[in-house]
Amino acid sequence: MTRGKRFQKTGGLGGHLRILVTGSAGFLGSHLCDRLLQKGHTVVGLDNFLTGRAENLAGAFAHPAFEFVDQDVVSPFDGQFDQIYHLASPASPPMYQRNPVETAKINFIGTLNAMELAKRTGARILLTSTSEVYGDPEVHPQPESYSGNVNQTGPRACYDEGKRIAETLAFDYHRQHQVDIRVVRIFNTYGPRMHTDDGRVVSQFVADALAGRDITVFGNGGQTRSFCYYADLVAGLDKMMNTDGLTGPVNLGNPEEISINEFAELVVELAGSSSRIVTRPLPIDDPKKRRPDISKAKRLLDWAPTVSLREGLIETIELQSFLLTQTQSGTRGNS
Ligand code: NAD
Ligand code: UDP
Repeated sequence: MTRGKRFQKTGGLGGHLRILVTGSAGFLGSHLCDRLLQKGHTVVGLDNFLTGRAENLAGAFAHPAFEFVDQDVVSPFDGQFDQIYHLASPASPPMYQRNPVETAKINFIGTLNAMELAKRTGARILLTSTSEVYGDPEVHPQPESYSGNVNQTGPRACYDEGKRIAETLAFDYHRQHQVDIRVVRIFNTYGPRMHTDDGRVVSQFVADALAGRDITVFGNGGQTRSFCYYADLVAGLDKMMNTDGLTGPVNLGNPEEISINEFAELVVELAGSSSRIVTRPLPIDDPKKRRPDISKAKRLLDWAPTVSLREGLIETIELQSFLLTQTQSGTRGNS
């Protein structure tokens, strides 16, 4: 592991590329690193562990073609890459609201630094934007042409507006400096390696169900989300990056929509849990419904999710349950 602002020179030629992944220690970034390494590329992961964990990169660290840089994207960074996947940003509402000014800086200045690097070096850059740019949507499902309904003074704005300015920067670097950009709007994605303590609904409900704790539904639970399994999403990022003549924005997500109440019941059922479902007030500006219109991704990328919510949840719960058993037996062994 190195700390600092300089990376080694590129060795990427032909099919073998040198690729930077910012936010590499996070849930999606770490799965993306694994996929790119499996494809035979050299991967440089960059992260400051704000919400990510080194253990997510255990497989990558064991790979000879992986390098890691401990770096905050708010400070400029350098290096020669063929491609840059720019993921660095907290993603869960409790995490991005913990330090909202920092969240806004990460998305604005961090993206500015990533775009500058792409401009200087000619790298293609993919920005992971979010369905949060649609705010609390008045159009349903959400197509890319919908300009959204974000409350710019609300508690979610540090992230929502942060991602909106990040998209603006990407398109301005493209128009003004001919940077080769790809902009993807990710809808709620889940799977192994999500942080169990980050408060997102899937990781929270699974952790609570496995522990037999109460599951807390915010509001009346009638709000909806559409959950995509990580493997489908990461395949979509790869397709988007490697499709020529396309800037986006393109929605990536699973249009299988479910209310949070139904989702809580499904988690309890699949985990075989005895947890009770309790309620708490709905957080401010919590979107009432969300479902991606993915016709653009289907048409331009020939991409659509292949894993149903039930299948993906079973895998996620099984793995989480296995890890829990290991921790418990480790704890017992040590005591
Ligand atoms: P995550 O929190 O697991 O990963 C984010 C990573 O970025 C973490 O490893 C974190 O330490 C790192 N990071 C944060 N600030 C940083 C900084 N200043 N410098 C360097 N690294 C920093 O979240 P995730 O779910 O893997 O999300 C990855 C990206 O995808 C984010 O940009 C997020 O906005 C976007 N996204 C995710 C979802 C989803 O449902 N998972 C939905 C929409 C958008
Ligand atoms: N939610 C919930 N209980 C929780 C966490 C979240 O009911 O413990 C709800 C939240 O209010 C929202 C939905 O689940 O309506 C999805 O929340 P999450 O934080 O995962 O992501 P969001 O899509 O809101 O960014």
